[in-house]
Amino acid sequence: MACRLEPTPPVPQQALDQLLALYDELDRHLATLDVECRACGRCCNFVRNDYQLYATYIERLLVVRRHGLPTLTRDGSCGFLVDGRCSIHPSRPLGCRTFFCDPTHKPREQDLCHTWQRRIRAIVDRHGLPWEYALFFTPLNAHLADVVPHA
Ligand code: SF4
Ligand code: SF4
Repeated sequence: MACRLEPTPPVPQQALDQLLALYDELDRHLATLDVECRACGRCCNFVRNDYQLYATYIERLLVVRRHGLPTLTRDGSCGFLVDGRCSIHPSRPLGCRTFFCDPTHKPREQDLCHTWQRRIRAIVDRHGLPWEYALFFTPLNAHLADVVPHA
């Protein structure tokens, strides 16, 4: 049976600007928390760590628009990991921002994620966009490339 994708609605630049402003605010908030990160990039290997990265429609669209399709390398790392560093740092999705391997962070991680996801939801609703939470690394993201020319 053929798989038919629903038409993808256009996303106004204003919505993407609001998402980027929200990311900045989240980063400022995270800087106030005493959480340790050596920026080693080990958590960007999804095969070795045996976990998946999910992101909302608007977040995936922002990445596709600015950087192209998210892919996994043969060793299971995110294709945006370059020399051990995230090459799309300002555009990385919420899941990348709120994850820390620091065990002292674990008790607040879920709440933090839900709080900021609700705020992304508010942007999505304000602009009448679909709320779609899906895998970050999926060929289905390719349909986003049709509606957002690579910047
Ligand atoms: S969260 Fe942990 S694994 Fe990920 S980059 Fe920071 S120190 Fe490395
Ligand atoms: S987008 Fe950046 S932080 Fe997120 S998995 Fe890829 S390289 Fe790591």
